[in-house]
Amino acid sequence: MHKILLIGSSKVRPTTTVPMIEAAGYTVELAQTGIAGLELARAQNPNLIICDWDLGDCDGHHILKQIRKDHQLVVTPFILLSSLYEHRHLRQTMQLGADDCLLRTYSDEVLLAAIATRIKQQEAVTNHYLSHLRLAAEHLNRLSYYDSLTKLPNHLLFEQRFTQLIETSSHPVALLSLSLDRLRQINNILGYPAGDSLLQSASHRLRACLPTDITLARLTGNQFAIALGHVEQLTTVRKLATEVMDALSRPFSLPGHEVFLTASVGVAMYPDNSQELPVLMRQADAALEYAKRQKSSYCQFYQPNMTVATEYQIRLETWLRYALEREEFEVHYQPQLNLRTGHIEGVEALIRWHHPQAGTISPGLFIPLAEETGLIISIGKWVLETACRQARQWQTMNLGLHHMSVNLSSVQFNQGSLSQQVAHILKDTGLSPHLLELEITETALIQDADAAVRTLNELKELGIQLAVDDFGTGYSSLSYLQKLPIDTLKIDNCFVRGVTTDPKNQVILKSAIQMGHDLGLCIIAEGVETVDEQSLLETYQCDFAQGYLIGKPMNAQKLQTYLEQRLPVVSLAL
Ligand code: C2E
Ligand code: MG
Ligand code: MG
Repeated sequence: MHKILLIGSSKVRPTTTVPMIEAAGYTVELAQTGIAGLELARAQNPNLIICDWDLGDCDGHHILKQIRKDHQLVVTPFILLSSLYEHRHLRQTMQLGADDCLLRTYSDEVLLAAIATRIKQQEAVTNHYLSHLRLAAEHLNRLSYYDSLTKLPNHLLFEQRFTQLIETSSHPVALLSLSLDRLRQINNILGYPAGDSLLQSASHRLRACLPTDITLARLTGNQFAIALGHVEQLTTVRKLATEVMDALSRPFSLPGHEVFLTASVGVAMYPDNSQELPVLMRQADAALEYAKRQKSSYCQFYQPNMTVATEYQIRLETWLRYALEREEFEVHYQPQLNLRTGHIEGVEALIRWHHPQAGTISPGLFIPLAEETGLIISIGKWVLETACRQARQWQTMNLGLHHMSVNLSSVQFNQGSLSQQVAHILKDTGLSPHLLELEITETALIQDADAAVRTLNELKELGIQLAVDDFGTGYSSLSYLQKLPIDTLKIDNCFVRGVTTDPKNQVILKSAIQMGHDLGLCIIAEGVETVDEQSLLETYQCDFAQGYLIGKPMNAQKLQTYLEQRLPVVSLAL
């Protein structure tokens, strides 16, 4: 019911006016003085104020001014009842912001009509603002809870709906994480507009094949999530996943192209796997990663042996994405000693990551992550360029270096265009190919033997050296390595460590060196930390030694000083 505030006691006539207005269906508040009226107006926020001109403590214009200054009452309709009826007085009243002014004696009908007009007008204005407000709120809601490209719920809404589902579902709830496998390639080949329209069609198809009460959300680029409640049997989940993957496997028509997508699904179950949504999300993602590695269109349920990325790994991955452009990487160089000549003839380039908050992060930690995310391709290229440019500089300085070793990840090794990339870098930096040695781990070589031989031959044709890193830790035999065009074997730290006290390691080390030599390979022992280890290696006629005893990995400037200090007098004289 609309509330009207009457202020005053002369024109307002409390005994008759109040019951008359109430009879017309309004509630009435009455204040006899101006100050009391102002207080009531502020406290009650009425729909309409009717105010006398003579108030005893002040006049109606004073009240009107105060009302129009109050942010809450500034638009409240205001009717002044006045005994003056000069034109000047009326103009002033209206200019101060009154909505109406009734003069001298007015009839009940006139007052009621004035009230009705003001209330109606105020209602119209309020409704207008409310509908605007509602539209704005809806728009804001769409922006914050829906994905603008596909119009599907986003992760925020998905989290809300999933939580509601957990609260209302008597049976387990399944969280399905789904990714479109080839979207990135399609984006690269056909461009982002085509990728976007494909995403829209795929979302449309996904939505259409799911019952309307099942929440489908787009979480990030090519990743979607589905919440399925009341799961009595896991077969229901698998069936749903299969239907979804089937729907996506039919071809999509883009202007001028017909494209095929495949999808993979990872599933985590509430409450069996976890009761916490963030954990379930990561479990579903871990299962999804596993599914992607199996074959296309594969659905995998989370199992506890699957590694779930920790908060730290997730943070590390985000940092890693920016590390290259923020120039947080540096290459250090570790000297390699020729045990026969006693000269430092080679160095190994080892990447270092200095993060502004986390400090130096070990390559053992971030290289696997860079491999998983594909970032190793650009990081590896940067290391190769940096090391080659450095080697070229040292080459011109005649520091006695015969080779610069650079580590290659198996991801880089299997990338297809590796030899072109290496050729390019050699040309760009001007480094002589025979000064570059690439280190590849045994595991990278045995993944796809035929492809490995092909790639190694291509690299060899460029005139560079090839080394097998961490030899002894994989499963390859020397007879297998015999078939590969390699030049150097790097014997892993673990065979060198404690070799002076462990007779078993002595046998392994000695025979590895012997057999390597029989195959015409150069042997480098890694991780040499003591003088005893080095002299044993000399006895076994190992060619090179690398380790903290000879020198730790150091930055380019330090290594240069190190080399200059160790340079034999003869070559200085040259
Ligand atoms: P790696 O290629 O076998 O490199 C030798 C590792 O042993 C280096 O660790 C080196 O600092 C460490 N090391 C050297 N001498 C000694 C010693 O006397 N005692 C001990 N305990 N350790 C020694 P780092 O630099 O932490 O690198 C670890 C691994 O990360 C490397 O093993 C390599 O596989 C990888 N890595 C480093 N830089 C790169 C890179 O630029 N690209 C790729 N793909 N992998 C890299
Ligand atoms: Mg290495
Ligand atoms: Mg190694």
